[in-house]
Amino acid sequence: SALLTARDVTYFFGNTPALRGADLTVDAGEVLAVLGPSGSGKSTLLHCAAGILPPKTGSVHYRGVDLAGLDDRRRSDLRLREFGFVFQFGQLIDELTCLENVSLPLRLLGQGRRSADETARTWLDRLGVPDVAGQRPGQVSGGQAQRIAVARALAHRPAVIFADEPTGALDSLQGEQVMRLLVEAVRETDAALVLITHDTRIAAYSDREIVVRDGRTSETRSAA
Ligand code: ADP
Ligand code: ADP
Repeated sequence: SALLTARDVTYFFGNTPALRGADLTVDAGEVLAVLGPSGSGKSTLLHCAAGILPPKTGSVHYRGVDLAGLDDRRRSDLRLREFGFVFQFGQLIDELTCLENVSLPLRLLGQGRRSADETARTWLDRLGVPDVAGQRPGQVSGGQAQRIAVARALAHRPAVIFADEPTGALDSLQGEQVMRLLVEAVRETDAALVLITHDTRIAAYSDREIVVRDGRTSETRSAA
Protein backbone atom coordinates (compact mmCIF):
# COMPACT_ATOMS: atom_id res chain seq x y z
CA SER A 1 0.00 0.00 0.00
CA ALA A 2 1.22 3.51 -0.81
CA LEU A 3 2.94 5.29 2.04
CA LEU A 4 3.94 8.37 0.09
CA THR A 5 2.35 9.76 -3.06
CA ALA A 6 3.50 12.77 -5.07
CA ARG A 7 1.05 13.55 -7.85
CA ASP A 8 1.50 15.81 -10.87
CA VAL A 9 4.09 17.92 -9.09
CA THR A 10 5.53 21.03 -10.71
CA TYR A 11 8.37 23.11 -9.32
CA PHE A 12 10.19 26.19 -10.62
CA PHE A 13 13.51 27.78 -9.75
CA GLY A 14 12.62 31.34 -10.68
CA ASN A 15 11.05 30.98 -14.12
CA THR A 16 12.89 27.76 -14.89
CA PRO A 17 10.79 24.63 -14.53
CA ALA A 18 12.57 21.81 -12.70
CA LEU A 19 9.49 19.54 -12.42
CA ARG A 20 6.71 19.57 -15.02
CA GLY A 21 4.15 17.12 -13.67
CA ALA A 22 6.14 14.43 -11.89
CA ASP A 23 4.64 11.48 -10.04
CA LEU A 24 6.15 9.35 -7.32
CA THR A 25 4.60 6.56 -5.28
CA VAL A 26 6.46 4.84 -2.48
CA ASP A 27 5.10 1.65 -0.98
CA ALA A 28 6.00 0.57 2.54
CA GLY A 29 9.25 -1.36 2.60
CA GLU A 30 10.12 -1.06 -1.09
CA VAL A 31 13.44 -0.01 -2.57
CA LEU A 32 12.76 2.44 -5.38
CA ALA A 33 15.52 3.67 -7.69
CA VAL A 34 15.17 7.10 -9.29
CA LEU A 35 17.26 7.33 -12.45
CA GLY A 36 17.73 10.02 -15.06
CA PRO A 37 20.28 12.42 -16.55
CA SER A 38 21.93 15.16 -14.54
CA GLY A 39 19.64 18.18 -14.26
CA SER A 40 16.48 16.18 -15.06
CA GLY A 41 14.84 16.98 -11.70
CA LYS A 42 15.64 13.95 -9.51
CA SER A 43 16.84 15.92 -6.48
CA THR A 44 14.02 18.42 -6.80
CA LEU A 45 11.49 15.56 -6.89
CA LEU A 46 13.07 14.03 -3.80
CA HIS A 47 12.98 17.39 -2.00
CA CYS A 48 9.31 17.90 -2.90
CA ALA A 49 8.35 14.34 -1.90
CA ALA A 50 10.15 14.74 1.43
CA GLY A 51 8.42 18.01 2.28
CA ILE A 52 11.60 20.08 1.96
CA LEU A 53 10.47 22.06 -1.10
CA PRO A 54 6.83 23.06 -1.60
CA PRO A 55 5.44 22.02 -5.01
CA LYS A 56 4.10 24.87 -7.12
CA THR A 57 1.17 22.70 -8.20
CA GLY A 58 0.27 19.09 -7.55
CA SER A 59 0.23 17.35 -4.19
CA VAL A 60 2.25 15.22 -1.82
CA HIS A 61 0.52 12.91 0.65
CA TYR A 62 2.19 10.93 3.41
CA ARG A 63 0.00 8.26 5.02
CA GLY A 64 -2.95 10.14 3.59
CA VAL A 65 -1.87 13.50 5.04
CA ASP A 66 -1.42 16.38 2.58
CA LEU A 67 1.97 17.89 3.41
CA ALA A 68 0.80 21.29 2.11
CA GLY A 69 -1.84 21.31 4.83
CA LEU A 70 0.72 21.16 7.64
CA ASP A 71 2.44 24.22 9.08
CA ASP A 72 6.26 24.35 8.95
CA ARG A 73 6.61 23.05 12.48
CA ARG A 74 4.39 20.02 11.91
CA ARG A 75 6.00 19.32 8.55
CA SER A 76 9.51 19.37 10.01
CA ASP A 77 8.36 17.20 12.95
CA LEU A 78 6.98 14.69 10.47
CA ARG A 79 10.25 14.77 8.50
CA LEU A 80 12.34 14.18 11.58
CA ARG A 81 10.19 11.33 12.85
CA GLU A 82 9.21 9.52 9.67
CA PHE A 83 12.06 10.19 7.22
CA GLY A 84 15.81 9.63 7.08
CA PHE A 85 18.20 11.32 4.65
CA VAL A 86 21.52 10.31 3.12
CA PHE A 87 23.23 12.72 0.73
CA GLN A 88 26.21 12.39 -1.59
CA PHE A 89 28.57 13.99 0.89
CA GLY A 90 27.68 12.80 4.40
CA GLN A 91 26.77 16.32 5.55
CA LEU A 92 27.83 15.34 9.03
CA ILE A 93 28.26 18.01 11.66
CA ASP A 94 31.96 18.55 12.13
CA GLU A 95 31.66 20.03 15.62
CA LEU A 96 30.18 16.76 16.92
CA THR A 97 31.80 13.35 17.25
CA CYS A 98 30.65 10.62 14.88
CA LEU A 99 28.68 9.02 17.70
CA GLU A 100 26.98 12.35 18.50
CA ASN A 101 26.09 12.79 14.82
CA VAL A 102 24.21 9.49 14.91
CA SER A 103 22.58 10.08 18.30
CA LEU A 104 21.46 13.65 17.52
CA PRO A 105 18.21 12.74 15.70
CA LEU A 106 17.34 10.41 18.57
CA ARG A 107 17.94 13.20 21.09
CA LEU A 108 15.83 15.59 19.00
CA LEU A 109 13.06 12.99 19.12
CA GLY A 110 13.21 13.03 22.89
CA GLN A 111 15.41 10.05 23.79
CA GLY A 112 17.65 10.38 26.80
CA ARG A 113 21.37 10.68 26.27
CA ARG A 114 22.35 7.24 27.48
CA SER A 115 19.79 5.37 25.45
CA ALA A 116 20.46 7.52 22.35
CA ASP A 117 24.20 6.88 22.62
CA GLU A 118 23.63 3.16 23.06
CA THR A 119 21.43 3.00 19.96
CA ALA A 120 23.97 5.08 18.02
CA ARG A 121 26.77 2.74 19.04
CA THR A 122 24.77 -0.29 17.90
CA TRP A 123 24.31 1.37 14.51
CA LEU A 124 27.98 2.24 14.12
CA ASP A 125 28.77 -1.43 14.88
CA ARG A 126 26.24 -2.59 12.38
CA LEU A 127 27.73 -0.38 9.66
CA GLY A 128 31.17 -1.73 10.43
CA VAL A 129 32.62 1.49 11.89
CA PRO A 130 32.62 1.00 15.68
CA ASP A 131 36.04 2.63 16.02
CA VAL A 132 35.04 6.06 14.71
CA ALA A 133 32.63 6.79 17.59
CA GLY A 134 34.85 9.33 19.33
CA GLN A 135 36.35 10.86 16.19
CA ARG A 136 35.25 13.96 14.31
CA PRO A 137 33.80 13.48 10.82
CA GLY A 138 36.80 15.40 9.40
CA GLN A 139 39.12 12.65 10.64
CA VAL A 140 37.42 9.72 8.89
CA SER A 141 37.54 8.48 5.28
CA GLY A 142 34.82 9.15 2.71
CA GLY A 143 33.56 5.58 2.95
CA GLN A 144 33.41 5.77 6.73
CA ALA A 145 31.59 9.12 6.56
CA GLN A 146 28.88 7.59 4.35
CA ARG A 147 28.49 4.66 6.74
CA ILE A 148 28.03 7.14 9.58
CA ALA A 149 25.51 9.04 7.44
CA VAL A 150 23.59 5.79 6.87
CA ALA A 151 23.65 5.03 10.60
CA ARG A 152 22.34 8.52 11.33
CA ALA A 153 19.56 8.19 8.74
CA LEU A 154 18.35 4.85 10.10
CA ALA A 155 18.89 4.95 13.87
CA HIS A 156 15.46 6.40 14.63
CA ARG A 157 13.83 3.74 12.41
CA PRO A 158 12.13 6.04 9.93
CA ALA A 159 9.56 4.65 7.52
CA VAL A 160 11.18 6.22 4.44
CA ILE A 161 14.86 6.80 3.69
CA PHE A 162 15.70 9.31 0.97
CA ALA A 163 19.16 8.82 -0.49
CA ASP A 164 20.53 11.25 -3.11
CA GLU A 165 23.56 9.67 -4.81
CA PRO A 166 24.72 8.22 -1.48
CA THR A 167 27.74 6.57 -3.09
CA GLY A 168 28.41 9.23 -5.72
CA ALA A 169 31.58 10.42 -4.04
CA LEU A 170 33.02 6.94 -3.37
CA ASP A 171 35.11 4.59 -5.46
CA SER A 172 33.21 1.58 -6.78
CA LEU A 173 34.35 -0.86 -4.07
CA GLN A 174 33.48 1.51 -1.20
CA GLY A 175 30.27 2.41 -3.02
CA GLU A 176 29.21 -1.24 -3.36
CA GLN A 177 29.87 -1.86 0.33
CA VAL A 178 27.94 1.18 1.49
CA MET A 179 25.04 0.32 -0.84
CA ARG A 180 24.91 -3.26 0.40
CA LEU A 181 24.90 -2.10 4.02
CA LEU A 182 22.27 0.55 3.30
CA VAL A 183 19.92 -1.86 1.54
CA GLU A 184 20.46 -4.56 4.18
CA ALA A 185 19.65 -2.14 6.98
CA VAL A 186 16.63 -0.80 5.13
CA ARG A 187 15.28 -4.33 4.62
CA GLU A 188 15.88 -5.25 8.25
CA THR A 189 14.02 -2.23 9.57
CA ASP A 190 11.19 -2.54 6.99
CA ALA A 191 11.86 0.99 5.81
CA ALA A 192 11.26 2.12 2.25
CA LEU A 193 14.22 3.52 0.32
CA VAL A 194 14.02 6.17 -2.38
CA LEU A 195 17.40 6.06 -4.03
CA ILE A 196 18.63 8.59 -6.59
CA THR A 197 21.43 7.21 -8.70
CA HIS A 198 22.71 7.26 -12.24
CA ASP A 199 24.65 4.03 -11.68
CA THR A 200 22.68 1.12 -13.14
CA ARG A 201 24.65 -1.36 -11.00
CA ILE A 202 23.40 0.45 -7.93
CA ALA A 203 19.86 0.60 -9.33
CA ALA A 204 20.08 -3.21 -9.52
CA TYR A 205 19.54 -3.26 -5.75
CA SER A 206 16.04 -1.84 -6.21
CA ASP A 207 12.63 -3.48 -6.46
CA ARG A 208 11.39 -0.88 -8.92
CA GLU A 209 12.76 1.96 -11.02
CA ILE A 210 11.45 5.24 -12.28
CA VAL A 211 13.19 7.58 -14.70
CA VAL A 212 13.05 11.38 -14.57
CA ARG A 213 13.50 13.27 -17.84
CA ASP A 214 12.96 17.00 -18.27
CA GLY A 215 11.01 17.16 -15.05
CA ARG A 216 8.66 14.28 -15.89
CA THR A 217 8.63 10.75 -14.55
CA SER A 218 8.05 7.37 -16.11
CA GLU A 219 8.21 3.85 -14.79
CA THR A 220 10.71 1.52 -16.42
CA ARG A 221 10.86 -1.66 -14.42
CA SER A 222 8.22 -3.05 -12.06
CA ALA A 223 8.70 -5.46 -9.22
CA ALA A 224 8.98 -9.03 -10.49
P1 ADP B 1 19.06 16.23 -10.88
O1 ADP B 1 18.96 15.88 -9.44
O2 ADP B 1 18.33 15.29 -11.78
O3 ADP B 1 20.46 16.44 -11.32
P2 ADP B 1 17.95 18.74 -10.04
O4 ADP B 1 16.64 18.42 -9.44
O5 ADP B 1 19.11 18.99 -9.14
O6 ADP B 1 18.31 17.62 -11.11
O7 ADP B 1 17.79 20.00 -10.97
C1 ADP B 1 16.71 20.15 -11.91
C2 ADP B 1 16.86 21.48 -12.62
O8 ADP B 1 16.69 22.53 -11.69
C3 ADP B 1 18.25 21.69 -13.25
O9 ADP B 1 18.05 22.43 -14.41
C4 ADP B 1 18.99 22.48 -12.20
O10 ADP B 1 20.00 23.27 -12.76
C5 ADP B 1 17.87 23.34 -11.63
N1 ADP B 1 18.12 23.67 -10.21
C6 ADP B 1 18.29 22.80 -9.19
N2 ADP B 1 18.48 23.43 -8.03
C7 ADP B 1 18.44 24.74 -8.32
C8 ADP B 1 18.57 25.93 -7.53
N3 ADP B 1 18.79 25.87 -6.22
N4 ADP B 1 18.45 27.12 -8.16
C9 ADP B 1 18.25 27.19 -9.49
N5 ADP B 1 18.10 26.11 -10.28
C10 ADP B 1 18.20 24.90 -9.71
P1 ADP C 1 22.26 16.88 -7.81
O1 ADP C 1 22.13 16.54 -9.26
O2 ADP C 1 22.71 15.73 -6.97
O3 ADP C 1 21.11 17.66 -7.26
P2 ADP C 1 23.64 19.25 -8.44
O4 ADP C 1 25.10 19.43 -8.63
O5 ADP C 1 22.69 19.35 -9.58
O6 ADP C 1 23.50 17.85 -7.71
O7 ADP C 1 23.13 20.27 -7.31
C1 ADP C 1 23.81 20.43 -6.11
C2 ADP C 1 23.16 21.56 -5.36
O8 ADP C 1 23.19 22.76 -6.12
C3 ADP C 1 21.69 21.29 -5.05
O9 ADP C 1 21.42 21.73 -3.73
C4 ADP C 1 20.92 22.11 -6.06
O10 ADP C 1 19.69 22.56 -5.51
C5 ADP C 1 21.87 23.25 -6.33
N1 ADP C 1 21.76 23.67 -7.73
C6 ADP C 1 21.72 22.88 -8.82
N2 ADP C 1 21.59 23.59 -9.94
C7 ADP C 1 21.59 24.89 -9.56
C8 ADP C 1 21.48 26.12 -10.26
N3 ADP C 1 21.35 26.19 -11.60
N4 ADP C 1 21.52 27.26 -9.54
C9 ADP C 1 21.63 27.21 -8.22
N5 ADP C 1 21.73 26.09 -7.49
C10 ADP C 1 21.71 24.94 -8.16
